[in-house]
Amino acid sequence: MNVRDSEAVAAMLEAAGHERCGSEEDAELVIVNSCTVRDKAEQKAIGKTGYLTAERLGRGRSAQAKIAAGKASKLKLVGLMGCAVKRLGAEVFEKVPGLDFAAGPRKFWMIPRLVERCLAGESELLELAGDDEVPEGLGVHSDAPSGQSFQAYVTILLGCDNRCSYCIVPDVRGHEYSRPAREVVAEVRSLAERGVKEVCLLGQSVLRYGVRNKAWDESDAPSPGGYTEPFPRLLEALASIPGLERIRFTSAHPKGCTDELVRAYRSFPQVCRHLHLPVQSGSDRILGLMGRHYTRAEYLAAVKKLRDFDPEFSLTTDVIVGYPGETAEDFEETRSLMEEAGYENAFVFKYSPRPGTRAAALPDDVPTSEKERRDQVLLADQDARGLARNGRLVGTVREVLAEGPSLRNEARWSGRDSGNRIVIFDNPGSVRAGDVVKVRIERAAAQTLYGQLVC
Ligand code: SF4
Repeated sequence: MNVRDSEAVAAMLEAAGHERCGSEEDAELVIVNSCTVRDKAEQKAIGKTGYLTAERLGRGRSAQAKIAAGKASKLKLVGLMGCAVKRLGAEVFEKVPGLDFAAGPRKFWMIPRLVERCLAGESELLELAGDDEVPEGLGVHSDAPSGQSFQAYVTILLGCDNRCSYCIVPDVRGHEYSRPAREVVAEVRSLAERGVKEVCLLGQSVLRYGVRNKAWDESDAPSPGGYTEPFPRLLEALASIPGLERIRFTSAHPKGCTDELVRAYRSFPQVCRHLHLPVQSGSDRILGLMGRHYTRAEYLAAVKKLRDFDPEFSLTTDVIVGYPGETAEDFEETRSLMEEAGYENAFVFKYSPRPGTRAAALPDDVPTSEKERRDQVLLADQDARGLARNGRLVGTVREVLAEGPSLRNEARWSGRDSGNRIVIFDNPGSVRAGDVVKVRIERAAAQTLYGQLVC
């Protein structure tokens, strides 16, 4: 979500006459986009912004900043955007002395105006939105997007109304708002006309698209396939766009894994067979305390529905270890659920309290060393599981969207299959980034597949 917001701001600044530069050292303006979902992420963003303002002011507080201040800095303005701004409010200027402007997550579109005002001599400008404010410019994309121009993020849903007990996101990103389907379809159509092959639809809980507010209205053409649920109906509309090869979306909640969603997966080959389905815990007791609104059995029923439709369907998840009161038995239930679900990949987080959340009022009673142990156990389990699941694909031929030279070995290329698995292959020179190619898998690692092009 932050990558997409940053891209929209860069595009708006370009439209206002600014130019993108290749490196931070060459920049006259740097804006840090912050995350506050965990304390560490917020500290990192605040630390980085403080380093930049110290560099600009020439009075470094750290040795590193002092060295940087000695160099001729081109930096004129430093801004901060994103979730940490909303959480901290005006306090952000105390945390980061010398900060020129700050904009919360639903106010990023104000940044070109804030820059103008700062250049005219104003300072410490702050823009925060209400929980229901709808930002402008959600569909703005740069003519020359950074990164892969054949891939684009498209925000379809803002905010979150789930209010899980540990999560600060609803406080900083506000209430759910679904963009009108007509607007989303037009945006994706225009991206496809510019050569985008893959879009990733974004929302905190993307399957709730069109639930809180209507995304479709009576003047929209009826669904040719008879879809009545707003999100599958959106997939149907996007799948009819010429040139668009792949549609991804993230993140999901098991309640959204309906029969209509599975019908859309089955009917539209463009819809990638991968779902990021955060589980957080395998214990019903902890799921209840977390306020996740599903049980272990309900979650596993959603997994079964997807795997019954396609046994190779790729599932990834997020898990929290060490939630307040999580016992060894609760943890073992998480372990067994992960085994049963058979994830392709899992992101494991050690619980840390976020101020203002319901969970923050509970004693953070699982010792750090035990959180660390549980983290390591799950990661080791997942490595073995990933290897076994990927091993089953050796000998199969995967359709891979080529992304470019592999990060580890530039002589080989990297791409992803429909399940979002990384596939490494030799490129004889004929494959260009954005091409969809066939690769026969010869070897598997826990998170990567290796193979040869099939001519
Ligand atoms: S679904 Fe829960 S964890 Fe995800 S953003 Fe919403 S409140 Fe946070």
